[in-house]
Amino acid sequence: MTHQRPAALITGASRGIGRASALKLAAHGYDVAINYASSDAAAKEVATAAVTLGARAITVAADVADEQAVRVMFQRIEQEFGRLDAVVNNAGTTVGTPPSDLDGLSMTEWDRVFAVNVRGMFQVTRAAASLLRGSSHASIVNTASIVGLRPGPQPFPYAASKAAVVSLTKQLAGALGPEIRVNAIAPGWMVGEWMEDQLGDNYDRLMERRARLTPLRRCVTAEDVAETVVSLITSNPFVTGEIIVIDGGFSATT
Ligand code: NAP
Repeated sequence: MTHQRPAALITGASRGIGRASALKLAAHGYDVAINYASSDAAAKEVATAAVTLGARAITVAADVADEQAVRVMFQRIEQEFGRLDAVVNNAGTTVGTPPSDLDGLSMTEWDRVFAVNVRGMFQVTRAAASLLRGSSHASIVNTASIVGLRPGPQPFPYAASKAAVVSLTKQLAGALGPEIRVNAIAPGWMVGEWMEDQLGDNYDRLMERRARLTPLRRCVTAEDVAETVVSLITSNPFVTGEIIVIDGGFSATT
C-alpha cells in the first residue's frame, strides 16, 4: 500500500547521527525505516519516538555489508511503505588500531571497515534506486567524514573508507541523476560515544582543544549533523554530488 507521507530509510539509526536524523525527518513529515545492526532495544526506542512525532516507523535489523540482508530490508520497506523518497547512508564502523601502529592493524579489520562503510553504502544505494526513482524528489545523503577529505589521526581503513565515500558520492550523483540527488556530509569530531571510544582518557582534553581551535568554539553534535542531513533532503533541489563539511569551520581555518 502506498502512503501519502514521504518515506526515508536511515541506516545505522539506533543511535548518534542516524537516530537524530530519523527523528528530525519524522518531525518533517517523513515515515521512517530505522536500520541497525544489533541494538534492538535502542532501535525500538527511536521508532517509538518517531511515532510520537507523527510518523509511521519500522525497525529493520540488517548488516549493510550483507547483500542478501539488504535485499530483504528493501522488500520489507516496499511492503510497509510502498514508496521511498530518501536514504541516509549513515551506518559506519571503525577499528581501534591507531595509524601509528602500522603492524598492529589486521587485514580482517581493514576488510570489515570497507565492507560496511563502502560496499555496504553501495549495496544499499543500488537496492534503493528503483524505489527512489518513483519519487518526484528523491535524495540520498551519505555520511562521509572530515578525515575523508584531509589527513587526521583516525585509523587507516576508516580514513580511506571515508575518502571512498566521497568518491562514491560524486560518482553516484552522476549515475543516478536527474531523478535522484546524491550528496554527502563530512562531520568533524562529534561529541559522543564514537569519539570517546577513539580518544579514551584524552577525550575531554582533546575535544576541548578542538573546540578552542574551531571558529564556532565547540565540537559538532549529532543534532547539528541531522539538521544538515534534513536540509539536504528537504531543500537544495539543485545540489548534487556535493560534500558538506559540518565542523564549525575547523578544517577551513586550520
Ligand atoms: P554510532 O553512534 O556509533 O552509531 C553507529 C550506527 O551504525 C548504529 O546504529 C549501529 O547499529 C549502526 N551500524 C554499525 N555497523 C552496522 C552495519 N554493519 N549494518 C547496519 N548498521 C550498522 O555512530 P555515529 O557516531 O552516529 O556515526 C554515524 C556515522 O557518522 C558513521 O558513518 C561515522 O563514520 C560517521 N561519522 C562520525 C563522526 C563522529 O565523530 N562520531 C564523525 C564523522 C563521521 P547498532 O547500534 O545496532 O550497532
